[in-house]
Amino acid sequence: MEFPLESIRPEERQELERTVFYSTIEQVKGWVRSNSLWPLTFGLACCAIEMMGAGGPHYDFDRFGVMFRTSPRQADVMIVSGTVTKKMAPLIRRLYEQMPEPKWVIAMGSCATAGGPYVRSYSVVKGVDQIVPVDVYIPGCPPNPAALIYGVMKLQEKIRYEAKTGKQVTNL
Ligand code: SF4
Repeated sequence: MEFPLESIRPEERQELERTVFYSTIEQVKGWVRSNSLWPLTFGLACCAIEMMGAGGPHYDFDRFGVMFRTSPRQADVMIVSGTVTKKMAPLIRRLYEQMPEPKWVIAMGSCATAGGPYVRSYSVVKGVDQIVPVDVYIPGCPPNPAALIYGVMKLQEKIRYEAKTGKQVTNL
């Protein structure tokens, strides 16, 4: 049943429009999730230094609600930062499976995105998306902490958009 806004006085109506907003549970959940992302630390090579820099006092990842976790059970985002070797691939997959739903993956840097400078190496996986589904790709060798923050903000947008529309965005 719709609330009859026409039947109330203009000043009350103004106050209602200023203080009350309508939403859905899914949208609220999306908003909350997007503002409390807990990444699993997954530094594999040089890009990891930039990821650590994002968590330091200068870039201050915490202000976006991003708190690094060391256990997959407590994490909902995997930031793969560095070179993915074929030996490491099964472990990445296992840790991904240990993370509870809903979960997301960020491929940080050229190596995690497509093999980077080691693309011709027999021992390197040509992109972590061959092992786990990736939501956001961040180019660069290495991308700096600001680029990682931008990538996280794109992921936040994606989570909120999907919660609002119910449509799946494949990757960014
Ligand atoms: S993309 Fe460049 S900086 Fe990042 S892990 Fe690969 S070689 Fe290192």
